[in-house]
Amino acid sequence: MIGLLLFLQIGVASASAPIPTFIVVRDGVSSVSVPVTIDGGQPSVRADALMRAMHGTLITSTNLHYTLSLSRMRLDLIDGIPFAKLDSLTIPLTRAPQVRGGVLYLPFQFVSEVIPRYAGGYFYDASHAELRAFTPTVAIRPPPTPQQSASTTPTTAGSAASPSLPITTTAAAPAPVIRKAPAPGPVSKPADRQLVVIDAGHGGPDHGMTGPIGSAPWFVEKDVTLAVAKKLATVLRARGVDVLMTRTTDTLIALADRGKIANSNHGDVFISIHCNAPGYNTAAAARERGFETYFLAEAKSEDERRVQDMENESVKFETGANAAKGDPLNFIITDMAQNEHLRESSDLAQTIQNGLIEVHPGPNRGVQQANFAVLRGSYMPAVLVEIGFGSSQSEAAYLSDQGNQYALARNIAGSVLSYLSHYESRVGGTR
Ligand SMILES: [Zn+2]
Repeated sequence: MIGLLLFLQIGVASASAPIPTFIVVRDGVSSVSVPVTIDGGQPSVRADALMRAMHGTLITSTNLHYTLSLSRMRLDLIDGIPFAKLDSLTIPLTRAPQVRGGVLYLPFQFVSEVIPRYAGGYFYDASHAELRAFTPTVAIRPPPTPQQSASTTPTTAGSAASPSLPITTTAAAPAPVIRKAPAPGPVSKPADRQLVVIDAGHGGPDHGMTGPIGSAPWFVEKDVTLAVAKKLATVLRARGVDVLMTRTTDTLIALADRGKIANSNHGDVFISIHCNAPGYNTAAAARERGFETYFLAEAKSEDERRVQDMENESVKFETGANAAKGDPLNFIITDMAQNEHLRESSDLAQTIQNGLIEVHPGPNRGVQQANFAVLRGSYMPAVLVEIGFGSSQSEAAYLSDQGNQYALARNIAGSVLSYLSHYESRVGGTR
């Protein structure tokens, strides 16, 4: 229902800078200009010209696949797909790379963001429209954070370069130390730790559902989801799992950003907590109760579609850079990216749902599938738990009780841990 799109903020900063008619790629050996072409108002550069200027290679494979090969980076692209692959990292692009007249054009974002962030040893000077090589000063120091490396002063560490040149070529640089810049984000996760991303539904001006039906509204979904999410975080942390919460206060986080937060921090599991309400307002509706767990897929039943539309409604509170933009291609790609986790998401949903039977008064409404915007943005097993109906007098009271909130949190935490240990053994302990 909602044309919610992902990752569109990525190119906002560079889009506001003036776009030059050409850029100069400068290193200790050469300085080569690369034209910037505008098509449909969007700046692009030729992939072959950019690679030549950077002493790299553009590799053309079958099925519209391309690889940009530089000394420190191999980036895989597909014509028409707005994502790039760097090892297991998926980098969202503002626009898809596109082949026209047999030539692959890259969005300008490659010059302003992708190469500086991931290629290792380049920064983009927008005021001079220059993509400059520098030698990362990492050989005798611990690897820098991306922020540090981005602000590193160009040095002449390489002995092959002339001292009069302020910048050394990447070819003269020591053996690559920076294999891959970690994705941006406040949390860096040690390889052997697992990270659970907990998303408290709604927040700020988006109250979610209010209830119960038939009395003055005192049950507010955003407060209960946050209370349960915080307890879930506490329990998981106490059991040695790293936790990242998409929000810890009464604020609105765009649906697309919730997944993005999870991705950029390399979450292993994404759990969104919500409270349910029927789509109508009658005495029968007031009796709807129970818990259900969703994973991402096309909604199949009317009921699934109702919950999907209700939870996706949050998008109407999002404005400006967070607002939804409709690009049907991005939908397809995002679904494709999520698809590889469909099986895991479904397993996780089943594990959580089965666990809740032990503590929740019910009824058990089962595992459901729907196309939630919040799940769509996360490239990891992702589920949305409807912990009960705030529209029901009895369930609103149940969900508001701190002890019950803890019981639900402990139960969900147990299921997540059990799922993670299964998942770990299936994939041999690595991700
Ligand atoms: Zn909700």
